[in-house]
Amino acid sequence: MASTISKETPVRQKTEVVIVGGGSGGAALARRLSSAALDFDPEQHNLTLITPDNIASTYPRPPGSLEDTALIPYDKLYTEGNAGRVVHGQVTQILDGSLVLESGESIQYHCLVLATGGRWEGPLAFPDSDAEVREHLRAWRAKFAAAKSVVLVGGGAVGVELACEVKAWYPTTEVTIVHAHSLLLNDAYPDKFRNSTVARVKQFGVNLVLDDKLESLPEGTTTATTTKGQKLTADLFISTRGPKPNTDILKSFDPSVITPSGHVKVLPTLQVPLANGKANLFALGDIIDWNEQHKFTTAVAHGEILVNNVLGAINNGVTPPIPYQGSEESIMITVGPRGGLWFVPKLWGLTFGDWVVSTIKSGLFIPNARALLGY
Ligand SMILES: Cc1cc2nc3c(=O)[nH]c(=O)nc-3n(C[C@H](O)[C@H](O)[C@H](O)COP(=O)(O)OP(=O)(O)OC[C@H]3O[C@@H](n4cnc5c(N)ncnc54)[C@H](O)[C@@H]3O)c2cc1C
Repeated sequence: MASTISKETPVRQKTEVVIVGGGSGGAALARRLSSAALDFDPEQHNLTLITPDNIASTYPRPPGSLEDTALIPYDKLYTEGNAGRVVHGQVTQILDGSLVLESGESIQYHCLVLATGGRWEGPLAFPDSDAEVREHLRAWRAKFAAAKSVVLVGGGAVGVELACEVKAWYPTTEVTIVHAHSLLLNDAYPDKFRNSTVARVKQFGVNLVLDDKLESLPEGTTTATTTKGQKLTADLFISTRGPKPNTDILKSFDPSVITPSGHVKVLPTLQVPLANGKANLFALGDIIDWNEQHKFTTAVAHGEILVNNVLGAINNGVTPPIPYQGSEESIMITVGPRGGLWFVPKLWGLTFGDWVVSTIKSGLFIPNARALLGY
């Protein structure tokens, strides 16, 4: 791979490094890149993070004001004296060397990192602005409070956690997960741990319909029939099937780097192999086509590799590119605010229970996300 960026502009012009998407991976990378300890020289390079208002990713957990801590501004992202800036906006188009924002503004880049994450549905589809997120959480809290029965379609970690959140806060609500596999989660994790998850979730009072599917999600109080013919009646049907990668903006620029599932092809250096042969586009986080579970921790791990590889690219290959070699497939799942399970693939596979998980994760990792942004 060609690992450096050639500027077709006069020598004195600064290299424009632009990151699109300020979620876990994009924000972590921006913070690390701008750090004084690294070779990111503000005299030579500009760093721009383009992202909507705030970071937000949580469950509509009542009662109260979780959003006051979960909505994290970007004003402390960069360490003092460094040259980063944050542009709040939505990128609508990628061109060769520039980006177009929804506002019509154009932003130049020499090196671009896409960190646009995934698009969830229903209560997990957070809007972009602070005010909209607050209204979204208010509206979904009201829906959960009014529902006597909820069906969640998708029994991955997010489906399990959301189901148990609903059950914890509304114990009389009937909560059911429909999951396509015979055990919760997927086969990235050993059956022993998946069996423990099934037992723990059932014990918490959540009903499970396993090895079955609901193809479409009905609206309002109604009855839906699963593929195997089971009838499920509920006030709310919610998809927790996982996010669709936010890669539409790349599709029109270079469709050859998008997989059928919508993920972005990357080389081990996390460089995107563009058809035009340029080596100035990288991607990280939930959007990349990599055989691993997409998580907060993996997005941050991609950022750690990219600190080196972006610096190498903009500093004429001074630092050789490092290949990403995957991350440990550990998983920590809350079962309500005071319990959960944690699988760590060390030795023969270690599992930790309620006390450890609630100690570490009862705050839904919001403190970790705040720390990431300098709070
Ligand atoms: C409810 C919930 C709970 C979760 N819990 C955990 C957990 O406990 N542990 C764990 O490891 N993972 C968890 N995850 C998954 C984790 O949040 C993601 O894997 C991680 O955030 C991915 O990081 P990312 O940087 O790829 O994308 P994101 O964090 O999703 O960030 C993408 C950013 O890009 C912005 N963006 C998108 N398109 C554009 C555009 N065109 N222009 C400008 N900006 C754009 C978005 O607004 C967003 O800010 C959870 C996810 C959800 C939804």
